[in-house]
Amino acid sequence: MNDDLTSRMGFARSFIDRQALLRANDEEMAAMLGRREALFYLFADDRVLVQVGAAPQTAGFAAEHAEGLMSGEPPVFLGVADGRPLFAASVIAEAPLPEAIKPIDIRSVAMQGLLPDGELGALAQGRSMLYWHATHRFCSRCGHESTPVQGGYRRDCSHCGAQHFPRTDPVSIMLIVNGENCLLGRSGRFAAPMYSTLAGFIEPGETIEDAVRRETMEEAGITVGKVTYLASQPWPFPASLMIGCYGKALSEDIVIDREELMDARWFSRDEVRIMLSGEHPDGLVVPQRFSIAHQLIWSWVNGHVAI
Ligand SMILES: [Zn+2]
Repeated sequence: MNDDLTSRMGFARSFIDRQALLRANDEEMAAMLGRREALFYLFADDRVLVQVGAAPQTAGFAAEHAEGLMSGEPPVFLGVADGRPLFAASVIAEAPLPEAIKPIDIRSVAMQGLLPDGELGALAQGRSMLYWHATHRFCSRCGHESTPVQGGYRRDCSHCGAQHFPRTDPVSIMLIVNGENCLLGRSGRFAAPMYSTLAGFIEPGETIEDAVRRETMEEAGITVGKVTYLASQPWPFPASLMIGCYGKALSEDIVIDREELMDARWFSRDEVRIMLSGEHPDGLVVPQRFSIAHQLIWSWVNGHVAI
């Protein structure tokens, strides 16, 4: 991925060397877990525990501080950074926390820049993995309880022998462009008056390009031709991968799907530039800088992409 884009997006940068080949070695995993310099990222659903006070450099806790807070579930191996093994673990529900430790939702951590950028990659990986474990405790083939293995990257069913792997849900997110205009929509989920790119889950058996065309037709009635990829962003709410694309519009008349969107319209490049600056006369804005939606819009407004 383009380094500039990665550095501007939340959750897209990680300092972790995942050391995926080590996961199959149970002894190695146990040794990593026991190392004194190991760090533990502690999660309560979509919130991560952070030591508040002076600007924290990491959300990771040393083993002696993490031990009393962790639930009995085996920690997930995230990888290694600076020679330290990193793990993600769930905290005991309702565990009393020391005053200096606060659970903060990871969206706020990203939006407010509460931790260094590289930490957000660890939060995305940890949150998505723990969510998978929390929601896949039982074998989907036979219904028996399954067991985490391989550092947490697989769950095995001892009853029927099935192996289950963590999932990532791909989402196409696209800026549709027609010459000097782009298509932005307003969802009921957005705080007014925010306009953003269209987006939707990619379905099984579908290409990214076809998902861009289908979602745009469904939500706004616009026919899309050529699709171009820009970049991707892990989106741990709870386990998506946003795949950022441009689509070249082949039609202009918008038909809004009111179930999905409150509004959608064409915006000129100049108007979007004003929205990016936060000085639109009607107060219209686009998503914040940490999102791939913002980067799709910003890169097009500034002429960095050929569509
Ligand atoms: Zn089974």
